Order: sequence, then structure tokens, then C-alpha cells
Amino acid sequence: MKSLLIACDFDGTITTRDTLHVIVEAFGTRGVWAALEPRLRSGEMSVEQAMSEQFATVRATPQEVAALVRRDAPVREGFVEWVRWCRAEGHHLVVLSAGFRSVIEPVLAEAGVGDLEVVANDARFSRAGCELVWAERGERCGICDRMCKRWALNRRWTGQRLVYLGDGISDRCAARMADVVFARAGLAEHLAEEGVPFTPLHDFVQVRRDMEPLVRAAA
Ligand SMILES: [Mg+2]
Ligand SMILES: [Zn+2]
Repeated sequence: MKSLLIACDFDGTITTRDTLHVIVEAFGTRGVWAALEPRLRSGEMSVEQAMSEQFATVRATPQEVAALVRRDAPVREGFVEWVRWCRAEGHHLVVLSAGFRSVIEPVLAEAGVGDLEVVANDARFSRAGCELVWAERGERCGICDRMCKRWALNRRWTGQRLVYLGDGISDRCAARMADVVFARAGLAEHLAEEGVPFTPLHDFVQVRRDMEPLVRAAA
């Protein structure tokens, strides 16, 4: 059986809700993003700068953030069993997130898969305001003109079939690189509009069921 490279988004894909939205709603100042939107659209400000300004208003300790995320953004059904299945089958599984390691790692650890490979930015939470730390994301992508997830994917790809799972804008370009895509929410709508085939993602019990024949076909 040939192994696969499986790349999975975190927010809204592994978790039922986007942790960044949950955190800003609970601990940040609402409306900051909307106020920055015109400057974002005109190109005066980058997405990273806007996110940094938004998160500077988030006043909470790492413990408070972890407790909130555990409560309001749990992992989707079947996730842990799916991770164990991927590993037992010998696939290379990596979490590719535009979000923050300090949010992701406690969630994965709590679920019992704290040793999963994670590519993400980071956030230093404190009562004085949160400081974002942007990870090295390589060159600007020649296809989407962003610092997109393709760079991290390309560095891990050794010619195997690629499976991508995601839900948002930051998943669009990487999904177009994959042989098989599981998509939900905005990513599913986007791919449908573009005529790109994908399998809807409801939960990981279903993902595993849908992946099994695919793995056999690749063997
Ligand atoms: Mg997402
Ligand atoms: Zn790209």
C-alpha cells in the first residue's frame, strides 16, 4: 500500500468552530476587524497587520484561552480515531494552520494526539494584550500571490498522492495542489464554483470511511 501525504487545516476543520473567532468574541474588542477592512481592501494594510491589531485587544491568559477553546471549539467527531488510523496505515499527516500554535497544541494534547506535526504561527497571550508571532512561511506563492500553505506542503511532498482537508480561504491554493480534497464551508463553496471536484467533510468518521477505498485505489 502506498502512503499518502495528508495535510489538514485546524480551525473549523479539525475543530467545529474557528478558534480565532471564538477567542476574539470572548476576550477581544469586537468590530476592530470591520474597522480595518477598508485599509485591508485598499492594500494599505496586510492581513497579518490587521490580525495583529485585532489580537492586541485580546486580554486573557494562555490558561483562559485554552479553557475557552476546549469549551467552545471542540474537535470534530472521529478526529482522534482518524489520526490513529492514518498513522497505522503509515501516512504522513501534518496540520497546516494559518492560526496559532499556542491555541492548537493544547487542543491536540487534550485530545491525546499532542505529538502531531503542526505548521502554524504563534500567539503570546496575556492580560496586557496578545502579541502575534508570524512563522517563516517561505516565498510568496507564484499562483495566489500570498504566503500560502503550498510552501509547507511542497517541503513535505516526496511524490506521494496528496490529500487535503480544509474549510477556508487560506486552504484554497493548497487544495488545488491536492489529488483528493475534503472540503466544508467556504472552501467547499469556492471549489464548487470553480468546478473542482471534492468530497464534503462532515466529520472524521465519514472522512475515514471515504478515505478507505481511495487508499486501496492508490495501492
Ligand atoms: Mg480553517
Ligand atoms: Zn498559493
